[in-house]
Amino acid sequence: MTYVVVGGGLAAAKAVEALRDEGFEGPVTLIASETDRPYERPPLSKGLLLGTEELESVFVHSPQWYREHDVDLRLGTTATELDRSAKVVRLASGDEVPYERLLLATGSTPRRLPVPGGERALLLRTIPDSHRISEAVTATTRVVVIGSGWIGLEVAAAARSRGAQVTVVGATPLPLQKILGDRIAQVFADLHRGNGTELRLDNHVVEVTETEVVLADGARLPADVVIAGIGVTPNVGLAADAGLAVDNGVLVSSSLASSDPDIFAAGDIANIEHAFLGHRVRVEHWDVAIHTGQAAARAMLGQPVAYDRLPYFFTDQYDLGMEYIGTAPADAEVVIRGDLAGREFLAFWLVDGRVAAGMNVNIWDVNDQIGELIKSRVTVDRARLADPGVELAALHA
Ligand SMILES: Cc1cc2nc3c(=O)[nH]c(=O)nc-3n(C[C@H](O)[C@H](O)[C@H](O)COP(=O)(O)OP(=O)(O)OC[C@H]3O[C@@H](n4cnc5c(N)ncnc54)[C@H](O)[C@@H]3O)c2cc1C
Repeated sequence: MTYVVVGGGLAAAKAVEALRDEGFEGPVTLIASETDRPYERPPLSKGLLLGTEELESVFVHSPQWYREHDVDLRLGTTATELDRSAKVVRLASGDEVPYERLLLATGSTPRRLPVPGGERALLLRTIPDSHRISEAVTATTRVVVIGSGWIGLEVAAAARSRGAQVTVVGATPLPLQKILGDRIAQVFADLHRGNGTELRLDNHVVEVTETEVVLADGARLPADVVIAGIGVTPNVGLAADAGLAVDNGVLVSSSLASSDPDIFAAGDIANIEHAFLGHRVRVEHWDVAIHTGQAAARAMLGQPVAYDRLPYFFTDQYDLGMEYIGTAPADAEVVIRGDLAGREFLAFWLVDGRVAAGMNVNIWDVNDQIGELIKSRVTVDRARLADPGVELAALHA
């Protein structure tokens, strides 16, 4: 049996690791476009930009690991075609790589700003992107960040920490509003304003010139550096061209198998039939890349897999660290436990009286308990949920 993994990100690295951990001894090939071996992206907008993390710490495995585990790591190699009838992956070089089981983990590409001069905005996805931003932003730089989502806010925080003058332009009236809802989004608005960042919200960019960012309301923001964080597009071209079922990602079962039983998908591109949530989810987060990569490897080996891990996300911005677990609409009812103004609290999003998602802000070692509460599906008593004196476990005992 020959296993091939296309995509050199976290999901791919965790999949090849799991194949070996599970005792698979046959040939494993990892085809990766980037010239850097697989690495974790979260530090690119945090520790690497802040200068608190060394580049070496971002890589998933050492070069020796691939040698010792007999993984044929082909860096700087792009798969251009998937021929399902011949069961080969064609490469840009013209070479063919045969497979018996294939994993697609091709990740995402950041969206370019669709306005005149939009190509002037720097994007952030790779190590070279992070280095480019790092070199461009100094204490005297005027930075305009376009996009008030996770990446935009993290980059803004890193730039402010370097002393730069920072403006964030966001399309919604509050940053992260479409994910967190008004009340918690306000916490992030206060955090960034409190740290000296100007927020230009409920607005959008119409042009980027050599020296300015022009907004829809006519404002012209002087800018030495423009960075766009306006979302990503999943890389599903290979899958779609090969005739696999694709709809907002590669459609996979709860065992991560695509519409072709020999081809699996993991990470950002996988639109998964989630075994706990009972509906499809496609999640562009670090934890999902790790666990879907591992789960797909086990499924490829023929083990029973029903992916039911709750979506999980974390961020660090200034002195705010937080974890979010579950999934809920932004306008769901929110219950707070703790000190919202002091940024030390838990937030719970309720759907039909049950906790569908929860977030811990500057409070640690509770995320698993919030996950258990979500998985219990119990109807919660709001007063007890808000009361720090009540153990979370007692809510579903
Ligand atoms: C700056 C930044 C910060 C982030 N911070 C957080 C965070 O704080 N918390 C969090 O939960 N998530 C965070 N994320 C998201 C998280 O990193 C992604 O969800 C995760 O990287 C997805 O992993 P992946 O393996 O699916 O895809 P990717 O990491 O995108 O890797 C896919 C790889 O496949 C390669 N590839 C694509 N097509 C081909 C092809 N045809 N042939 C060969 N190779 C190909 C690509 O070049 C790429 O290297 C962050 C992302 C970024 C960019």
